[in-house]
Amino acid sequence: MGKRKALMAGNWKMHTTAVDGCQLAVDVASACADFTDREVLLAPPFTILSEVSHILKGRPVIIGSQNVCWEEKGAFTGEISPIMVQAAGGSAAIVGHSERRQIFGETDELINKRLRGGLSFGLLMIFCVGETLEEREAGKAFAVLYEQIKKGLADVAAPDMAKVVIAYEPVWAIGTGKTASKEQAQETHAFIRGVLEQIYEKNVAEQTRILYGGSVKPTNVDELMAQPDIDGALVGGAALDAQSFGRIINFK
Ligand code: PEP
Repeated sequence: MGKRKALMAGNWKMHTTAVDGCQLAVDVASACADFTDREVLLAPPFTILSEVSHILKGRPVIIGSQNVCWEEKGAFTGEISPIMVQAAGGSAAIVGHSERRQIFGETDELINKRLRGGLSFGLLMIFCVGETLEEREAGKAFAVLYEQIKKGLADVAAPDMAKVVIAYEPVWAIGTGKTASKEQAQETHAFIRGVLEQIYEKNVAEQTRILYGGSVKPTNVDELMAQPDIDGALVGGAALDAQSFGRIINFK
């Protein structure tokens, strides 16, 4: 099988308000050529999902939220529902980001609920996993990833995997300037694909896109994207700069 369609995603985290966010979105859209082999996704803060979607209407950019609740509506203070994301022009959501896990205490079980909830409304779900430096140094990276994947994908049926993208983001590489080497990233992506084959079947494992995240920059994107099991990138810091992200989405 040839390589899967790449997905280049920018996670803006808690940055940008309407004016700078819309400008950034327009500049990123301008950097998109007539791609056939890749897709571009932006995840702005909830507050400007509508504005960014509106300004990019008709442009080939997928809009996603940085998290999502499993319920349609109700007493869930501080949350955003899948239909709110869709009404704001979004069609995707990120779940399980390490900042949600580490700073806000989100568990594998909670992330699984979010993942299944988003899928039930038809969102494209970017499901993040990743080990800490301590875990990697203790030789536990694969065991930690196995656990996160197994629990995060609990009760997700094989057909729904068409709407799931996994993002491998080693916690030690996020926002630190340290990138996993291309060999480390490839080895881990191949491991994750093996876990998917074990949970589902070869077909599902081969079709699921696995993104790498952790200090992806214009200077390292080409070598990362040349790896057979790396199908895209989830980018934080460099996604806030249109020139850098423009180069990243135009990886060679
Ligand atoms: C991220 O937040 O998902 C991320 C990978 O951040 P950075 O690119 O800044 O390391």
